[in-house]
Amino acid sequence: MRKTIIAGNWKMYKTIKEAIELSNGIKRELFKLDNPGIDIVLCPAFTALSEVAEVVAESDIMLGAQDLYWQDEGAFTGEVSAKMLKDAGCTFVIIGHSERRQFFGETNESVNKKIKAALANALTPIVCVGETLKQREARETFKVLEDHVRNGLDGLNKEDLLKIVIAYEPVWAIGTGKTATPEQAQEAHKYIRELLGKLYGKEAAAQVRIQYGGSVKPENISALMRQPDIDGALVGGASLQVASFAEIVKKAAEVIK
Ligand code: PEP
Repeated sequence: MRKTIIAGNWKMYKTIKEAIELSNGIKRELFKLDNPGIDIVLCPAFTALSEVAEVVAESDIMLGAQDLYWQDEGAFTGEVSAKMLKDAGCTFVIIGHSERRQFFGETNESVNKKIKAALANALTPIVCVGETLKQREARETFKVLEDHVRNGLDGLNKEDLLKIVIAYEPVWAIGTGKTATPEQAQEAHKYIRELLGKLYGKEAAAQVRIQYGGSVKPENISALMRQPDIDGALVGGASLQVASFAEIVKKAAEVIK
């Protein structure tokens, strides 16, 4: 049985004060839900991690970062290590988000090193994979997913696999208001799970949580959550408001109960 996981990627939004307000608001709203059976993860910018950690400390809400560097420490100006994220209170970290692949030169190789660094420091990586519009139109979706999964997870064993979360995020649906249809998302999730089955065995693949990300909103979460291989959501824009994020969690909880 895979536990649903909903994570909010706050990207480069929210000052420390705003992040405290948002996390407090989310905590208050989610407290009203009677044990929704969902893992909730908030991923603020690095600057707000410690403060949000304090807000969520006495709750079931967990903290994640949006990236990390694979070295423990050293002369790497501007970078933040897994050890530092642990120290700030994180238990999750997003790795290989398409915005990092697109704007900051993230590759499967760097994703792979980052996953290993996260696992070595007991952080759960949320590994993002997904095709661009051009790749989808060229019917390369599965090829891209295979490339991201095979090379991103290179060298990981079955035990490692069971400690990660995968986020299928079609790049054309991120921040665009265009969501993949539930069928398109399910097709990609099923493909990823089958590929994991080939690489690690069916039993292990059946246990891996695969979130969908790409313009998830209160209006579309229920249909997405009804798909058999969708185990939650990585939410960008709609995680920046208490009401929309809480509504997404509530609707997901209704589907899984
Ligand atoms: C994301 O940032 O991972 C994301 C899916 O963003 P949005 O929900 O805004 O499309």
